[in-house]
Amino acid sequence: MSEGRLRLTIVGGFLGSGKTTWLRHQLFAGGFPAAHVIVNEAAGTPVDHGLLEGTNDQTVLAGGCACCDGSQTFQDALLEICDARSQMTDPTQRVGQLVLETSGLADPAAIVDLIQSHPVLIRHIVVHETIVVVDALYGQTALETEPVAQAQIRAADRLILTKIDLAGPTETGRLRRMLHMLAPGAAQSGSSFGSPVDLPTMAAKAVVLPKLAADSAAITTCQLDLGPDPDWTALTLWLSALLHAYGDQIVRVKGVICSPAGRLLVQAVRNRVPSPEVLPETETAAPEDNRLVLIGSGLSSNAIERSYQLVRDTG
Ligand SMILES: [Zn+2]
Repeated sequence: MSEGRLRLTIVGGFLGSGKTTWLRHQLFAGGFPAAHVIVNEAAGTPVDHGLLEGTNDQTVLAGGCACCDGSQTFQDALLEICDARSQMTDPTQRVGQLVLETSGLADPAAIVDLIQSHPVLIRHIVVHETIVVVDALYGQTALETEPVAQAQIRAADRLILTKIDLAGPTETGRLRRMLHMLAPGAAQSGSSFGSPVDLPTMAAKAVVLPKLAADSAAITTCQLDLGPDPDWTALTLWLSALLHAYGDQIVRVKGVICSPAGRLLVQAVRNRVPSPEVLPETETAAPEDNRLVLIGSGLSSNAIERSYQLVRDTG
């Protein structure tokens, strides 16, 4: 029985998938009337909630993930909201529903479990829907390397694909097939900056998903060979998109690139990319020239190479 209980919608998705953008537009369009929005960020410094500020009530939970190390804080916040709701005598002033934006590394199923196994919360809250936002450009990479990205899809009732224009119809079609294999019951739809867009046709051919152990996200090093004459424009475009989506995962990027402006030392720490430093010219290309080294957790050389080729070939 859900009568009288507060409906909770969980909005999940991997780091950089576009959860905040999607949610902000839904809230603005009145998609979650009278919602109390809970924004959870695993990092100590919250960023996303600033993007969501508006007319809704909001609780920000930073410095711990609701599905694991921040679960106690999350439960306490829910209890407090339920308590305030039952004390509110004017029904028009009451919270109508709850929306949780999870951290990018949360498993929504663990959050559902947490509520359903809690003796008090289960009487006050019913999990209405789990919506998972998937980045069409990097979603496949995440599914191939991150166990939690697969877990997020499996937990979804509904999947929202973003950045379809960047990924292109073939890649998106393959990703759709992959998502369908992981979550056959989840409806898929497309979104661009919060507005609905058509999805490309799902690829007919089955795809192979690697079996990932829960602890496989060790720090690894990938090397991307850019060839003798790299496309500087495509490279900078790709790198900024990569760091935007995986800034939390990529720890370090370094390489010397021969560009029209000379030999450039490109460096990034997390998602900060300072202006490249111009290095002295050499008679012959050094062996380390035009190679980019990326260090991070759960990086896949193949996936990184493919995403670069995609940007270069479509650029
Ligand atoms: Zn967690």
